[in-house]
Amino acid sequence: MLVSGCDIGSLTAKAVILRDGQQVAACIEPVGADASASAASILKKALAVAGLSGKDLDCCCATGYGRQQVAAADMNMSEISCHGLGAHSLDESIRTIIDIGGQDCKVIAVDAKGGVQDFAMNDKCAAGTGRCLEVLAGTIEVELSKLGALAQKSRKPVNITNKCSIFMELEVIDRMLEKKKQKDIAAGICDAVARRVAGLAKSVGLEERVCVTGGVAQNLGVIERLAGHLGMSFVDLPINPQMVGAYGAAVFAERAVGTKKGA
Ligand code: ADP
Repeated sequence: MLVSGCDIGSLTAKAVILRDGQQVAACIEPVGADASASAASILKKALAVAGLSGKDLDCCCATGYGRQQVAAADMNMSEISCHGLGAHSLDESIRTIIDIGGQDCKVIAVDAKGGVQDFAMNDKCAAGTGRCLEVLAGTIEVELSKLGALAQKSRKPVNITNKCSIFMELEVIDRMLEKKKQKDIAAGICDAVARRVAGLAKSVGLEERVCVTGGVAQNLGVIERLAGHLGMSFVDLPINPQMVGAYGAAVFAERAVGTKKGA
């Protein structure tokens, strides 16, 4: 059976292809101004990696902010369901998923079958999101991919207290004018985002075992501080955490084909 999952997020487009349950391609690229073109492009890329054409797919499931824009999709599912099922399919012991993406943050509680039981979402405010980290990394002139490692070197993180990302940026500029070390400001930025996410996570109530998905899972400065605020460690996933939504969508596609064949 050949299926694909396509996750069109606010910042990145992701596609995963599964052959009989095994991942044979996983691709990611930035989303352009035209989400439908980004969807077509990422799927084409993943098919090329797997040496397949669109006609070979038994089913394609779309998810993410731009899921309605995936012309090749046979079905679509919410990101919440896809991150839940994706994480569960990768490790059945997981009960809570903290998804920190570009434009929002979600905390998802799943049952023993990966079905969503409860969730909380911050999509009203940019603080506590990947985009906020991107902007603040730009403010201190650090490459986003290096922000977390730089923060991990700090012994004296600055305290960033504002809850709004615009005011957070002004605070960061103040700390720069005070000549605080770049690594201490980086740590303050990661800590501020981690505190926001921890607050959301506590509102759902965390059931062990817990994993972090979404692009920000790659920022170890945030993850280390988030683990500290929650007093726990996270499950390591066997795939790039940013791909879990697309992976979950592919598992939904597999289930749909299985149900059809069984009918
Ligand atoms: P969306 O699904 O909303 O498009 P993603 O889950 O792809 O969002 O996450 C995008 C975020 O991931 C970015 O805003 C950025 O903060 C973070 N990110 C992406 N790549 C890296 C990286 N190499 N290192 C650290 N953070 C990263």
